[in-house]
Amino acid sequence: MANRILIVEDEIDLARTLEYSLNKDGYDTICAATGKVALEHARQEPIPDLILLDLMLPDMSGLEVCRHVRSHPATQNVSILILTAKGEEIDRVVGFELGADDYVVKPFSIRELKLRIGAILRRQGGKGGVKPVSDNLIPINRTTQSIVVAGEEISLTSLEFRILDALTANPGQFMSRDELLKQVWGEKSGVRSRTVDVHVNRLREKLGPSNQLIETRRNVGYRYNQPKTNF
Ligand code: CA
Repeated sequence: MANRILIVEDEIDLARTLEYSLNKDGYDTICAATGKVALEHARQEPIPDLILLDLMLPDMSGLEVCRHVRSHPATQNVSILILTAKGEEIDRVVGFELGADDYVVKPFSIRELKLRIGAILRRQGGKGGVKPVSDNLIPINRTTQSIVVAGEEISLTSLEFRILDALTANPGQFMSRDELLKQVWGEKSGVRSRTVDVHVNRLREKLGPSNQLIETRRNVGYRYNQPKTNF
């Protein structure tokens, strides 16, 4: 099935251009010009795979939309790509803290935007296959971007997934927040290390009874501790 993208943008010309261009690439699209309509569309089946989210909307801020998307069970794992105007630097950072996956700064090229969209959806889709449990690692399903904790499948956001991926790649070794930041968000993301904590904490919450697998050490960073027994 085609990936479904919700375009949240009140500049009608831009919304139409995006829609046309994404349709041409085979994406299924739906548009919303206000935050209210965006949230309605986001929660309707089929749930979108990705939301392109303008920050300056007539009825509410895109960040508020972001927060609602993340807090609703039906949409909490939907990827969000923020469209931000120049000078909205602070909002962009807050966007990451609220769980956005990526951003582009207006005016952006459609080509650049499509590359970002493709990258997010690829991460969502992954390469398929479940890491073998005998690795002594948390079973990670790359196809559904989820983990299995105590026999239950729990889906992760792209960022949470990448954090887990980075940590489990070097079990037992501490990664500083800066290292994680570089690896997960990229070299020039402008994201503060506090954001790393926010996402790691969310990931730990999802790990539930297994959250001790990710250890936090003040002023050092995070590490993934291999479980002591096979499961
Ligand atoms: Ca706008």
